[in-house]
Amino acid sequence: MAKRAVSQLDVAGKRVLVRVDFNIPIEQGVEAIASYDQRLRATLPTIRYLIDQRCRVILCSHLGRPGGKEVDALRLAPVGDRLATLLGVPVKCLSETIGPGVEESVASMKPGEVALLENLRFHAGEEKNDPEFAHSIAGLADCFVMDAFAVTHRAHASTVGVPGLLPSAMGLLVQREVESLGQALDIKDENKPLAALMGGAKVSDKIMVLENLLGKLDHLIVGGGMSVTFLKAQGYDTGASSIEEDRLDFAKEVLSRATQLGVQIHLPVDVVVADRFAADAAGVKTVLVNQVPPDWLIMDIGETTARLFAESLGQCKTIVWNGPMGVFEMPRFSQGTRTVAGAMADLNGVTTVVGGGSTAEAVEEMGLMDRMTHVSTGGGASLEFLEGKELPGITALPDA
Ligand code: ADP
Ligand code: MG
Repeated sequence: MAKRAVSQLDVAGKRVLVRVDFNIPIEQGVEAIASYDQRLRATLPTIRYLIDQRCRVILCSHLGRPGGKEVDALRLAPVGDRLATLLGVPVKCLSETIGPGVEESVASMKPGEVALLENLRFHAGEEKNDPEFAHSIAGLADCFVMDAFAVTHRAHASTVGVPGLLPSAMGLLVQREVESLGQALDIKDENKPLAALMGGAKVSDKIMVLENLLGKLDHLIVGGGMSVTFLKAQGYDTGASSIEEDRLDFAKEVLSRATQLGVQIHLPVDVVVADRFAADAAGVKTVLVNQVPPDWLIMDIGETTARLFAESLGQCKTIVWNGPMGVFEMPRFSQGTRTVAGAMADLNGVTTVVGGGSTAEAVEEMGLMDRMTHVSTGGGASLEFLEGKELPGITALPDA
Protein backbone atom coordinates (compact mmCIF):
# COMPACT_ATOMS: atom_id res chain seq x y z
CA MET A 1 0.00 0.00 0.00
CA ALA A 2 1.39 3.38 -0.97
CA LYS A 3 1.94 5.90 1.77
CA ARG A 4 0.39 9.34 1.77
CA ALA A 5 2.39 11.84 -0.28
CA VAL A 6 2.85 15.49 0.61
CA SER A 7 0.65 16.42 -2.36
CA GLN A 8 -2.18 14.54 -0.59
CA LEU A 9 -1.73 16.38 2.70
CA ASP A 10 -3.56 19.62 3.42
CA VAL A 11 -0.58 21.86 4.10
CA ALA A 12 -1.60 25.22 2.64
CA GLY A 13 -0.83 28.02 5.06
CA LYS A 14 0.03 25.59 7.87
CA ARG A 15 2.98 25.19 10.21
CA VAL A 16 4.74 22.15 8.77
CA LEU A 17 7.46 20.26 10.60
CA VAL A 18 9.79 18.59 8.08
CA ARG A 19 12.27 15.91 9.10
CA VAL A 20 15.25 16.30 6.79
CA ASP A 21 18.61 14.60 6.78
CA PHE A 22 21.28 17.28 6.95
CA ASN A 23 23.79 14.90 8.50
CA ILE A 24 26.76 15.92 6.38
CA PRO A 25 30.39 15.21 7.35
CA ILE A 26 30.81 18.40 9.39
CA GLU A 27 34.13 17.10 10.78
CA GLN A 28 35.61 18.04 7.38
CA GLY A 29 35.18 21.66 8.44
CA VAL A 30 32.63 24.37 7.78
CA GLU A 31 34.40 25.38 4.54
CA ALA A 32 33.80 21.90 3.14
CA ILE A 33 30.02 21.98 3.58
CA ALA A 34 29.51 23.15 0.00
CA SER A 35 31.30 20.04 -1.31
CA TYR A 36 29.07 17.73 0.72
CA ASP A 37 25.72 19.38 0.22
CA GLN A 38 24.04 16.65 -1.84
CA ARG A 39 21.71 15.85 1.06
CA LEU A 40 20.67 19.49 1.28
CA ARG A 41 20.04 19.71 -2.45
CA ALA A 42 17.97 16.54 -2.32
CA THR A 43 15.41 18.17 0.00
CA LEU A 44 15.03 21.41 -1.96
CA PRO A 45 11.98 20.23 -3.98
CA THR A 46 9.99 19.52 -0.80
CA ILE A 47 11.00 22.78 0.88
CA ARG A 48 10.19 24.78 -2.26
CA TYR A 49 6.83 23.03 -2.58
CA LEU A 50 5.95 23.99 1.00
CA ILE A 51 7.11 27.59 0.52
CA ASP A 52 4.88 27.79 -2.56
CA GLN A 53 2.00 26.53 -0.42
CA ARG A 54 2.60 29.48 1.95
CA CYS A 55 3.56 27.14 4.80
CA ARG A 56 5.68 28.05 7.77
CA VAL A 57 8.42 25.51 7.19
CA ILE A 58 10.07 24.16 10.34
CA LEU A 59 13.01 21.91 9.46
CA CYS A 60 14.58 19.44 11.87
CA SER A 61 17.61 17.17 11.49
CA HIS A 62 20.36 15.47 13.41
CA LEU A 63 24.04 16.09 12.79
CA GLY A 64 26.74 13.67 13.88
CA ARG A 65 26.68 11.86 17.21
CA PRO A 66 26.49 14.39 20.05
CA GLY A 67 25.14 11.64 22.35
CA GLY A 68 22.25 13.56 23.88
CA LYS A 69 24.09 16.74 24.84
CA GLU A 70 24.98 20.07 23.27
CA VAL A 71 28.20 19.94 21.27
CA ASP A 72 29.19 23.25 19.70
CA ALA A 73 30.96 21.61 16.76
CA LEU A 74 27.70 19.88 15.88
CA ARG A 75 25.43 22.92 15.69
CA LEU A 76 23.33 23.08 12.56
CA ALA A 77 23.67 26.81 11.85
CA PRO A 78 26.49 26.50 9.27
CA VAL A 79 24.44 23.87 7.45
CA GLY A 80 21.38 26.14 7.58
CA ASP A 81 23.43 28.95 6.07
CA ARG A 82 24.38 26.70 3.17
CA LEU A 83 20.73 25.74 2.74
CA ALA A 84 19.77 29.42 2.57
CA THR A 85 22.25 29.91 -0.26
CA LEU A 86 20.92 26.91 -2.18
CA LEU A 87 17.31 27.86 -1.54
CA GLY A 88 17.72 31.56 -2.24
CA VAL A 89 15.64 32.47 0.82
CA PRO A 90 16.70 33.16 4.41
CA VAL A 91 16.75 30.26 6.87
CA LYS A 92 16.30 31.16 10.51
CA CYS A 93 18.70 28.89 12.44
CA LEU A 94 17.48 28.39 16.00
CA SER A 95 19.98 27.74 18.77
CA GLU A 96 17.67 25.30 20.54
CA THR A 97 15.63 22.28 19.48
CA ILE A 98 12.67 22.64 21.84
CA GLY A 99 11.50 24.97 24.59
CA PRO A 100 9.84 28.37 25.04
CA GLY A 101 12.43 30.22 22.94
CA VAL A 102 11.77 27.93 20.00
CA GLU A 103 8.01 28.19 20.45
CA GLU A 104 8.26 31.97 20.40
CA SER A 105 10.40 31.99 17.25
CA VAL A 106 8.00 29.65 15.49
CA ALA A 107 4.99 31.71 16.56
CA SER A 108 6.53 34.78 14.93
CA MET A 109 7.08 33.03 11.56
CA LYS A 110 5.25 34.35 8.54
CA PRO A 111 3.87 32.26 5.66
CA GLY A 112 6.63 31.10 3.34
CA GLU A 113 9.35 31.48 5.99
CA VAL A 114 11.84 28.74 6.81
CA ALA A 115 13.33 27.90 10.21
CA LEU A 116 15.79 25.16 11.20
CA LEU A 117 15.67 23.66 14.70
CA GLU A 118 18.93 22.89 16.49
CA ASN A 119 20.39 19.37 16.26
CA LEU A 120 17.77 16.81 17.35
CA ARG A 121 20.41 14.56 18.90
CA PHE A 122 21.36 17.22 21.46
CA HIS A 123 18.46 15.56 23.30
CA ALA A 124 18.74 11.94 24.40
CA GLY A 125 14.99 11.62 23.79
CA GLU A 126 15.48 11.69 20.03
CA GLU A 127 17.28 8.35 19.66
CA LYS A 128 15.29 6.80 22.53
CA ASN A 129 12.03 7.72 20.81
CA ASP A 130 10.96 9.39 24.04
CA PRO A 131 7.24 10.33 23.83
CA GLU A 132 7.77 13.57 25.74
CA PHE A 133 10.45 14.74 23.31
CA ALA A 134 8.28 13.73 20.35
CA HIS A 135 5.40 15.79 21.84
CA SER A 136 7.67 18.81 22.26
CA ILE A 137 8.70 18.91 18.61
CA ALA A 138 5.29 17.87 17.27
CA GLY A 139 3.73 20.69 19.33
CA LEU A 140 5.51 23.23 17.12
CA ALA A 141 3.51 22.31 14.01
CA ASP A 142 0.13 21.44 12.51
CA CYS A 143 1.42 18.63 10.34
CA PHE A 144 4.53 16.60 9.58
CA VAL A 145 6.44 15.73 6.41
CA MET A 146 9.05 12.96 6.41
CA ASP A 147 11.79 13.75 3.92
CA ALA A 148 14.81 12.16 5.60
CA PHE A 149 15.04 8.86 3.76
CA ALA A 150 18.49 8.15 5.24
CA VAL A 151 17.03 7.78 8.75
CA THR A 152 13.85 5.89 7.90
CA HIS A 153 15.50 2.68 9.15
CA ARG A 154 15.73 4.21 12.63
CA ALA A 155 12.86 4.29 15.12
CA HIS A 156 13.55 7.68 16.68
CA ALA A 157 11.26 10.40 18.07
CA SER A 158 11.44 12.43 14.86
CA THR A 159 10.97 9.43 12.58
CA VAL A 160 8.25 7.35 14.29
CA GLY A 161 7.16 9.36 17.34
CA VAL A 162 6.03 12.53 15.56
CA PRO A 163 4.05 10.87 12.72
CA GLY A 164 1.94 9.23 15.44
CA LEU A 165 0.99 12.69 16.73
CA LEU A 166 0.39 14.81 13.62
CA PRO A 167 -1.24 14.40 10.19
CA SER A 168 1.76 13.19 8.20
CA ALA A 169 3.03 12.38 4.73
CA MET A 170 6.14 11.49 2.73
CA GLY A 171 8.12 14.38 1.28
CA LEU A 172 9.10 14.40 -2.38
CA LEU A 173 12.53 12.89 -1.71
CA VAL A 174 11.19 9.98 0.35
CA GLN A 175 8.53 9.44 -2.28
CA ARG A 176 11.13 9.26 -5.05
CA GLU A 177 13.35 6.93 -2.99
CA VAL A 178 10.51 4.55 -2.24
CA GLU A 179 9.30 4.52 -5.84
CA SER A 180 12.75 4.08 -7.41
CA LEU A 181 14.04 1.45 -5.02
CA GLY A 182 10.63 -0.21 -5.07
CA GLN A 183 10.79 -0.48 -8.85
CA ALA A 184 13.90 -2.61 -8.48
CA LEU A 185 12.11 -5.05 -6.18
CA ASP A 186 8.74 -5.22 -7.88
CA ILE A 187 9.99 -6.14 -11.28
CA LYS A 188 7.55 -6.41 -14.19
CA ASP A 189 8.23 -8.22 -17.45
CA GLU A 190 8.69 -5.01 -19.41
CA ASN A 191 11.49 -4.00 -17.00
CA LYS A 192 13.51 -7.16 -17.54
CA PRO A 193 16.25 -8.28 -17.87
CA LEU A 194 17.18 -7.24 -14.34
CA ALA A 195 20.79 -7.20 -13.15
CA ALA A 196 22.20 -6.76 -9.67
CA LEU A 197 25.71 -5.37 -9.75
CA MET A 198 27.19 -6.05 -6.35
CA GLY A 199 30.50 -5.31 -4.71
CA GLY A 200 31.83 -3.57 -1.66
CA ALA A 201 33.80 -4.83 1.23
CA LYS A 202 32.12 -7.99 2.41
CA VAL A 203 29.67 -10.73 1.55
CA SER A 204 28.34 -10.63 5.12
CA ASP A 205 27.08 -7.05 4.68
CA LYS A 206 25.13 -8.05 1.59
CA ILE A 207 23.72 -11.48 2.43
CA MET A 208 20.18 -10.22 2.99
CA VAL A 209 20.23 -8.13 -0.19
CA LEU A 210 21.36 -11.18 -2.16
CA GLU A 211 18.71 -13.35 -0.52
CA ASN A 212 15.99 -10.88 -1.36
CA LEU A 213 17.02 -10.20 -4.94
CA LEU A 214 18.34 -13.54 -6.20
CA GLY A 215 15.01 -15.03 -7.25
CA LYS A 216 14.11 -11.96 -9.31
CA LEU A 217 17.38 -11.55 -11.19
CA ASP A 218 18.49 -12.39 -14.71
CA HIS A 219 22.11 -11.42 -14.04
CA LEU A 220 24.12 -11.38 -10.84
CA ILE A 221 27.37 -9.51 -11.38
CA VAL A 222 29.83 -9.57 -8.50
CA GLY A 223 32.99 -7.52 -8.02
CA GLY A 224 34.75 -5.81 -5.12
CA GLY A 225 35.95 -7.48 -1.95
CA MET A 226 32.78 -9.54 -2.05
CA SER A 227 33.87 -11.32 -5.22
CA VAL A 228 37.05 -12.53 -3.53
CA THR A 229 35.06 -14.82 -1.25
CA PHE A 230 33.14 -16.08 -4.30
CA LEU A 231 36.39 -16.75 -6.17
CA LYS A 232 37.75 -18.62 -3.17
CA ALA A 233 34.53 -20.64 -3.01
CA GLN A 234 35.18 -21.65 -6.61
CA GLY A 235 38.61 -22.93 -5.63
CA TYR A 236 40.82 -20.05 -6.75
CA ASP A 237 43.87 -19.03 -4.78
CA THR A 238 43.13 -15.50 -3.61
CA GLY A 239 46.60 -14.67 -2.24
CA ALA A 240 46.67 -12.55 0.91
CA SER A 241 43.22 -11.00 0.34
CA SER A 242 41.11 -11.17 3.43
CA ILE A 243 38.30 -13.56 2.75
CA GLU A 244 35.35 -14.52 4.88
CA GLU A 245 35.92 -18.17 5.73
CA ASP A 246 32.54 -18.38 7.39
CA ARG A 247 30.80 -17.18 4.22
CA LEU A 248 32.35 -19.67 1.80
CA ASP A 249 29.41 -22.05 2.14
CA PHE A 250 26.96 -19.22 1.59
CA ALA A 251 28.83 -18.17 -1.56
CA LYS A 252 28.77 -21.76 -2.86
CA GLU A 253 25.07 -22.00 -2.12
CA VAL A 254 24.35 -18.72 -3.95
CA LEU A 255 26.26 -20.01 -6.96
CA SER A 256 24.33 -23.27 -7.10
CA ARG A 257 20.95 -21.64 -6.41
CA ALA A 258 21.60 -19.09 -9.14
CA THR A 259 22.27 -21.91 -11.58
CA GLN A 260 19.04 -23.66 -10.60
CA LEU A 261 17.09 -20.42 -10.94
CA GLY A 262 18.58 -19.64 -14.33
CA VAL A 263 20.36 -16.52 -13.05
CA GLN A 264 23.54 -15.80 -15.02
CA ILE A 265 26.47 -15.26 -12.66
CA HIS A 266 29.35 -13.00 -13.64
CA LEU A 267 32.52 -13.07 -11.57
CA PRO A 268 35.88 -11.43 -12.30
CA VAL A 269 38.11 -13.09 -14.90
CA ASP A 270 41.01 -10.76 -14.17
CA VAL A 271 41.87 -8.63 -11.14
CA VAL A 272 44.19 -5.80 -10.12
CA VAL A 273 46.48 -7.01 -7.34
CA ALA A 274 48.88 -5.16 -5.05
CA ASP A 275 51.69 -6.32 -2.78
CA ARG A 276 50.37 -4.12 0.03
CA PHE A 277 46.98 -2.66 0.98
CA ALA A 278 48.06 0.90 0.27
CA ALA A 279 47.44 3.67 -2.24
CA ASP A 280 51.18 3.81 -2.94
CA ALA A 281 51.88 0.06 -3.01
CA ALA A 282 55.12 -0.60 -4.91
CA GLY A 283 53.83 -3.64 -6.75
CA VAL A 284 50.56 -3.30 -8.68
CA LYS A 285 49.55 -5.41 -11.68
CA THR A 286 46.62 -7.01 -13.45
CA VAL A 287 46.49 -10.80 -13.49
CA LEU A 288 44.04 -13.53 -14.44
CA VAL A 289 42.03 -14.81 -11.48
CA ASN A 290 43.98 -18.06 -11.45
CA GLN A 291 47.30 -16.21 -11.18
CA VAL A 292 47.01 -14.16 -8.00
CA PRO A 293 50.48 -14.30 -6.41
CA PRO A 294 50.69 -15.54 -2.82
CA ASP A 295 51.00 -12.59 -0.38
CA TRP A 296 49.34 -10.19 -2.85
CA LEU A 297 45.87 -8.69 -2.40
CA ILE A 298 42.99 -8.32 -4.83
CA MET A 299 42.20 -4.59 -4.97
CA ASP A 300 39.99 -4.11 -8.04
CA ILE A 301 38.44 -5.92 -10.98
CA GLY A 302 40.65 -6.03 -14.09
CA GLU A 303 40.07 -4.17 -17.33
CA THR A 304 38.72 -7.21 -19.19
CA THR A 305 36.30 -7.95 -16.36
CA ALA A 306 35.11 -4.35 -16.28
CA ARG A 307 34.46 -4.50 -20.02
CA LEU A 308 32.58 -7.82 -19.73
CA PHE A 309 30.52 -6.49 -16.80
CA ALA A 310 29.69 -3.37 -18.84
CA GLU A 311 28.61 -5.55 -21.79
CA SER A 312 26.25 -7.60 -19.61
CA LEU A 313 24.80 -4.43 -18.09
CA GLY A 314 24.18 -3.21 -21.62
CA GLN A 315 21.76 -6.11 -22.17
CA CYS A 316 19.54 -5.16 -19.24
CA LYS A 317 16.51 -2.93 -18.79
CA THR A 318 16.90 -2.48 -15.03
CA ILE A 319 20.12 -2.40 -12.98
CA VAL A 320 20.47 -2.25 -9.22
CA TRP A 321 23.98 -1.36 -8.15
CA ASN A 322 25.30 -1.74 -4.65
CA GLY A 323 28.97 -1.86 -3.73
CA PRO A 324 32.10 -0.52 -5.45
CA MET A 325 34.13 -2.87 -7.68
CA GLY A 326 37.38 -2.16 -5.85
CA VAL A 327 39.11 -0.02 -3.27
CA PHE A 328 37.90 3.06 -5.15
CA GLU A 329 39.12 5.49 -2.47
CA MET A 330 42.63 4.78 -3.77
CA PRO A 331 42.88 6.15 -7.34
CA ARG A 332 44.91 3.23 -8.68
CA PHE A 333 42.17 0.81 -7.63
CA SER A 334 39.20 2.88 -8.75
CA GLN A 335 39.21 2.05 -12.46
CA GLY A 336 36.83 -0.91 -12.26
CA THR A 337 34.28 1.19 -10.39
CA ARG A 338 34.78 4.04 -12.88
CA THR A 339 34.29 1.78 -15.89
CA VAL A 340 31.06 0.19 -14.71
CA ALA A 341 29.69 3.53 -13.47
CA GLY A 342 30.52 5.16 -16.81
CA ALA A 343 28.89 2.29 -18.71
CA MET A 344 25.72 2.58 -16.63
CA ALA A 345 25.64 6.36 -17.11
CA ASP A 346 25.86 5.90 -20.89
CA LEU A 347 22.88 3.56 -21.13
CA ASN A 348 19.66 4.92 -22.60
CA GLY A 349 16.21 3.66 -21.71
CA VAL A 350 17.58 1.64 -18.81
CA THR A 351 16.52 2.15 -15.21
CA THR A 352 19.68 2.47 -13.10
CA VAL A 353 19.23 2.49 -9.34
CA VAL A 354 22.21 3.01 -7.04
CA GLY A 355 22.03 2.12 -3.33
CA GLY A 356 24.64 2.05 -0.58
CA GLY A 357 26.62 4.87 0.98
CA SER A 358 30.01 4.21 -0.61
CA THR A 359 28.52 3.46 -4.00
CA ALA A 360 26.55 6.73 -4.02
CA GLU A 361 29.72 8.53 -2.91
CA ALA A 362 31.65 7.02 -5.84
CA VAL A 363 28.96 8.04 -8.33
CA GLU A 364 28.81 11.56 -6.89
CA GLU A 365 32.58 11.91 -6.97
CA MET A 366 32.62 10.91 -10.65
CA GLY A 367 29.97 13.54 -11.41
CA LEU A 368 27.53 10.92 -12.70
CA MET A 369 24.63 11.53 -10.29
CA ASP A 370 22.39 13.08 -12.93
CA ARG A 371 23.01 10.30 -15.42
CA MET A 372 21.63 7.54 -13.20
CA THR A 373 17.88 7.11 -12.85
CA HIS A 374 18.20 7.26 -9.09
CA VAL A 375 21.04 7.49 -6.61
CA SER A 376 19.75 6.83 -3.12
CA THR A 377 20.54 9.34 -0.38
CA GLY A 378 20.10 6.62 2.22
CA GLY A 379 23.15 4.38 2.70
CA GLY A 380 21.95 2.00 5.42
CA ALA A 381 18.27 2.69 4.71
CA SER A 382 18.65 1.83 1.02
CA LEU A 383 20.32 -1.46 1.93
CA GLU A 384 17.55 -2.36 4.35
CA PHE A 385 15.01 -1.47 1.68
CA LEU A 386 16.77 -3.76 -0.82
CA GLU A 387 16.84 -6.45 1.86
CA GLY A 388 13.06 -6.26 1.82
CA LYS A 389 12.95 -5.03 5.43
CA GLU A 390 10.30 -2.72 6.74
CA LEU A 391 11.57 0.80 7.38
CA PRO A 392 10.02 2.09 10.64
CA GLY A 393 10.08 5.71 9.44
CA ILE A 394 8.00 4.74 6.41
CA THR A 395 5.72 2.31 8.23
CA ALA A 396 4.85 5.06 10.73
CA LEU A 397 3.30 7.16 7.95
CA PRO A 398 -0.38 6.78 7.09
CA ASP A 399 -1.52 5.03 3.91
CA ALA A 400 -2.62 7.18 0.99
P1 ADP B 1 28.14 0.50 0.20
O1 ADP B 1 28.41 1.50 1.29
O2 ADP B 1 27.92 1.17 -1.12
O3 ADP B 1 27.09 -0.48 0.57
P2 ADP B 1 30.29 -1.15 1.12
O4 ADP B 1 30.30 -0.37 2.38
O5 ADP B 1 29.80 -2.53 1.17
O6 ADP B 1 29.48 -0.33 0.00
O7 ADP B 1 31.72 -1.26 0.49
C1 ADP B 1 32.56 -0.18 0.27
C2 ADP B 1 33.96 -0.50 0.61
O8 ADP B 1 34.38 -1.71 -0.01
C3 ADP B 1 34.91 0.56 0.15
O9 ADP B 1 35.48 1.19 1.27
C4 ADP B 1 35.95 -0.20 -0.65
O10 ADP B 1 37.27 0.23 -0.40
C5 ADP B 1 35.75 -1.63 -0.18
N1 ADP B 1 36.26 -2.59 -1.18
C6 ADP B 1 35.84 -2.77 -2.44
N2 ADP B 1 36.58 -3.70 -3.05
C7 ADP B 1 37.49 -4.14 -2.16
C8 ADP B 1 38.54 -5.10 -2.20
N3 ADP B 1 38.81 -5.80 -3.29
N4 ADP B 1 39.27 -5.28 -1.08
C9 ADP B 1 39.01 -4.56 0.03
N5 ADP B 1 38.04 -3.64 0.14
C10 ADP B 1 37.28 -3.43 -0.94
MG1 MG C 1 29.27 1.32 3.22
